[in-house]
Amino acid sequence: ARSLERFLADEAATFSLGEDLAMAIRPGDVLLLDGDLGAGKTTLARSLIRALADNPRLEVPSPTFTLVQSYDTPVPLHHFDLYRLSHGSELDELGFEEMLSDGAVLVEWPDRGDGRFPRDSVHLALEHEGEGRRAMLSGEGPAFERMARSLLM
Ligand code: ADP
Ligand code: MG
Repeated sequence: ARSLERFLADEAATFSLGEDLAMAIRPGDVLLLDGDLGAGKTTLARSLIRALADNPRLEVPSPTFTLVQSYDTPVPLHHFDLYRLSHGSELDELGFEEMLSDGAVLVEWPDRGDGRFPRDSVHLALEHEGEGRRAMLSGEGPAFERMARSLLM
């Protein structure tokens, strides 16, 4: 798998990464957001969704308790937070497959999904680095190539 890195000095940099990814995301894409509590997964998802909606003030709550929030954006977007998932099979009950066929999917805490994600899913890992964060995008396949290009522009 190939990978790409970007240092995010502050929250604004995380927002701009989300906006770049919003330009590239297409129906059927799965973007897995890895990283500890406070790494910036929800911040990244929020900026990506607001950019897709072309509405910087759109309310984008963390789906910690609802497990998933869906957005009626031009590319329909489903934002999962699997922290409270007790078993990977719950993902099927939430309608993951249907959501994937109608839109794009963002997933916080993807490890809780027990590997139920497509092979060509794109991984975005966020790590604390000093006062900022380091973002690492990796994957293989067309979705990764498309997203990687949008980060280089
Ligand atoms: P997670 O969903 O990974 O638990 P959140 O996005 O909820 O994390 O919270 C991340 C916190 O870190 C927020 O307070 C946000 O303002 C801050 N933050 C996001 N990106 C950066 C960054 N690049 N540098 C410093 N702080 C950041
Ligand atoms: Mg979160």
